[in-house]
Amino acid sequence: MALDHPGEDGDAGYRNCANNMDLKFLELTDRQARFIISGTTPAFVNSIRRSLIADVPSMSIDDVNFYNNTSVIFDEMLALRLGLIPLKGGEHYVSQSECSCDGEGCFQCQVSFTLNVQGPATVYSRDLTSADAEVVPADGNIPIIKLFKDQELMLEAIARKGRSKTHAKFQSAIATSYKYLPKFTIHECNGCKECIEACPKRILKYEDGSVHVIDELQCTLCNLCTEACEAGAITVTGDPESFVFYTESDGSISCKDLLLRSVESLMKTANELAEFLGTFG
Ligand SMILES: [Zn+2]
Repeated sequence: MALDHPGEDGDAGYRNCANNMDLKFLELTDRQARFIISGTTPAFVNSIRRSLIADVPSMSIDDVNFYNNTSVIFDEMLALRLGLIPLKGGEHYVSQSECSCDGEGCFQCQVSFTLNVQGPATVYSRDLTSADAEVVPADGNIPIIKLFKDQELMLEAIARKGRSKTHAKFQSAIATSYKYLPKFTIHECNGCKECIEACPKRILKYEDGSVHVIDELQCTLCNLCTEACEAGAITVTGDPESFVFYTESDGSISCKDLLLRSVESLMKTANELAEFLGTFG
């Protein structure tokens, strides 16, 4: 994918990001991913972030039919709580707007959940019974409401596929961010150790007559160390072509699949644009 990358002297500079791009994972679990992506631009990294947040589809409760609710919370409030429960599975479902049922709702575009609990009890996400065993709450221990004696909650909830560009409840990627890869330069340290005290991340130490960095990746580029150093011995800059990227999943999808889906979405968009531009001959 070619991206607009202005040159340092202001000239228009176009380059293919894929030529020199490198990816190094620092952490990759189902719920968290942290990696260094280098040889690219802030625009490209930000497009991955935006795609993760807005373009990865997921299932979420979208409609609720209440048959009985004698709890202390209104139907609307309960429906909002149900909508925010992350659901895992459902890769083969399509969004209602793209379904062959023309939006009427069918087995290809929606899943029904039933819930019937009588108090006294705390209602949890695990109490939702899915019509499709593959689509279930990502975590069964999410509390929904506490019912007292003689209170009852009976409902049917309909989950559909969507993207968070239409509603935040479809957002699987949470706490998604990136920063420039910090680069430290230390020279002629006079040993005052002011920078060590100033660093909120405690990543500087004094050893063998000079300050050293314990873990560059923990640096937030706040530059409090450079301000504290009267001798001007320490400088911290961000590498303009390397970034530390972090994302978390809400549990509805693994971080690896989350990243793959976001990149697939980017490629689809780029291909559509290329196809469109091709029509101009
Ligand atoms: Zn349908």
